[in-house]
Amino acid sequence: MIEDNKNPALPALDERPTKPAMIRGWKQLCPQCGTGPMMDGYLTVHDACEVCGEELHHQRADDGPAYVTILISGHLLAPMLLIAFEMFRPDPLLLVVGFSIIFVAMALFMLPRIKGAFVGLQWAKRMHGFAETESTITAPAE
Ligand SMILES: [Zn+2]
Repeated sequence: MIEDNKNPALPALDERPTKPAMIRGWKQLCPQCGTGPMMDGYLTVHDACEVCGEELHHQRADDGPAYVTILISGHLLAPMLLIAFEMFRPDPLLLVVGFSIIFVAMALFMLPRIKGAFVGLQWAKRMHGFAETESTITAPAE
């Protein structure tokens, strides 16, 4: 009676809740099982999850994560730059170098996490090729 699951507390087996999938992606884990690593290196997504075998090569994050990373970093740091300048009037070179380091560090921290969240969103919404994959958990063939 898998298809007749009417208990509202239990999600249907083929249901893919968006928020948990994006949180798992932010943590750079497989959006399906939440245990397998999503990334192979810094930004490369595994073709398939090493734990559950979910196909992840369907992701098409493209420039989206970079755009969102710059959007968030810029909106956080631009007001801070103005506040720091107005309050302390530091040497402009110190201000530029300091905020450049902070911006690069923030972008490098956020980029793989935002990419993971993008992949989780695409997986949950069955975008691109994710609609064709089975949602059943299978053991990896060894
Ligand atoms: Zn998995």
